[in-house]
Amino acid sequence: MVENHMTIQEKLSKLPQVNECLKGPYGQKWLEGSYRKIVVRAVREVIELKRRAILNGLDPDVSLDAIAGEIENLIRKYSAHKLRPLINASGVVIHTNLGRAILSDKAISNVAAIAGGYSNLEYEISKGKRGKRYSHIKDIIKELTGAEDAIVVNNNAAAVLVCLDTFARGREVIVSRGELVEIGGSFRIPEVMQASGAILREVGTTNKTHLSDYENAVCGNTGLLMKVHQSNYKVIGFTEEVPVERLVVLGKAFRIPVVDDLGSGSLISLEKFGIHGEPTVQEVIKQGADIVTFSGDKLLGGPQAGIIVGKEKLIQKIQKNPMLRALRIDKMTFAALEATFMQYLDEEKALQEIPTVRMLTQPLEVIRKRAARIHALLKKSISGQAELKIVGDQSRAGGGSLPETDFPTYAVSVRPSGISVNGLEERLRRGVPPVIARIQGDALLIDARTIQDREIKILTGCVIAAFGNNI
Ligand SMILES: *Cc1c(COP(=O)(O)O)cnc(C)c1O
Repeated sequence: MVENHMTIQEKLSKLPQVNECLKGPYGQKWLEGSYRKIVVRAVREVIELKRRAILNGLDPDVSLDAIAGEIENLIRKYSAHKLRPLINASGVVIHTNLGRAILSDKAISNVAAIAGGYSNLEYEISKGKRGKRYSHIKDIIKELTGAEDAIVVNNNAAAVLVCLDTFARGREVIVSRGELVEIGGSFRIPEVMQASGAILREVGTTNKTHLSDYENAVCGNTGLLMKVHQSNYKVIGFTEEVPVERLVVLGKAFRIPVVDDLGSGSLISLEKFGIHGEPTVQEVIKQGADIVTFSGDKLLGGPQAGIIVGKEKLIQKIQKNPMLRALRIDKMTFAALEATFMQYLDEEKALQEIPTVRMLTQPLEVIRKRAARIHALLKKSISGQAELKIVGDQSRAGGGSLPETDFPTYAVSVRPSGISVNGLEERLRRGVPPVIARIQGDALLIDARTIQDREIKILTGCVIAAFGNNI
């Protein structure tokens, strides 16, 4: 063969130049579909790989036709966003690692409309002059919660921080020992307290705190009485906590505001869905809490935000805190939040259209049918490579919401025969889009609760592809 007589030098001389690769029809296509720096990097890397192969005594085909596929793979890899969508088959509805609440279609289209153009974010159209950023959202929050006034910040941690800073810098905040929670590692009540300059005055015991505990702790330097939603744990057995309406009586007597950090903050009573003990924001306001704080992206099902509602005089005071400027929300959050709140004006629609609320309250039969659809699609393609079953299981609310609440669900159980279940889990996780499922014994469970109907085909395609790699 002629090639065998080619010297390494001759082989190297056949390597294409980067510019050559970019000029032809391949190059044109790549540059149109991606970005110049990415294309150049991909071409360079593949040429370099071939150079090394030649130096190692190999004889690769270095024609553009032969190396185009490799270049395209690299372009695709480098063009992919680092933050990208995935399919949540874990059954955890409010999954903090997976972006918490997913927005409703209405919220998404409102974000697109507001983000893609100028808006009246801080402009009063009727008067033709500067307006207030927070004015747009105030009225609807007041209407939905029954509160006198409202303000919105970056997240609920910020909401708590600004409340503490406004009313209790250098002063004592009385909190029950049963409510000194840690949420997700970084938010711990004692530490937030410290960061704000407030002094934590813990009262009662882990399991029991009485009104008299609060009463005995009140002194001239008390800035706030605070209740904190336990969020991600429950104290059961021999327990007692002081309901907010009784704290309110105490607060009134001593002229000390009562703050209730609700954490999740649901606007819909979940009792009729068999979910007990989660007070709505409206209820807590009705019980007289002076300030209530809650998250935008937990049970509410909106964007990341912290909502502060309560007495007008107090909210106005928060409004004047210079710290607010550092915690303010942007127009995209406003757009998503306003659209989400609007949907709560019709509870039936909210239950259907806000994904978080829908996923948590959907009838078991709906979940079973979705699992059956997934099962049927998988069975057609991979029944020879895995044992497929529809199984009953439990989902979770997640996000520090509704701990110990059962969410019966249906999942598709995939027990692979050719590969290990860990191998399958990894392939799905590393696929495009990634699918996050959970392992139970030697099977992978795909929980139908957190799968959106529009994702079913993509999801089953991913599972089938994961098995396809096997052959
Ligand atoms: C989740 C939670 C927070 C923090 O809310 P983010 O919106 O995540 O900042 C604060 N307090 C309670 C009780 C919570 O459950």
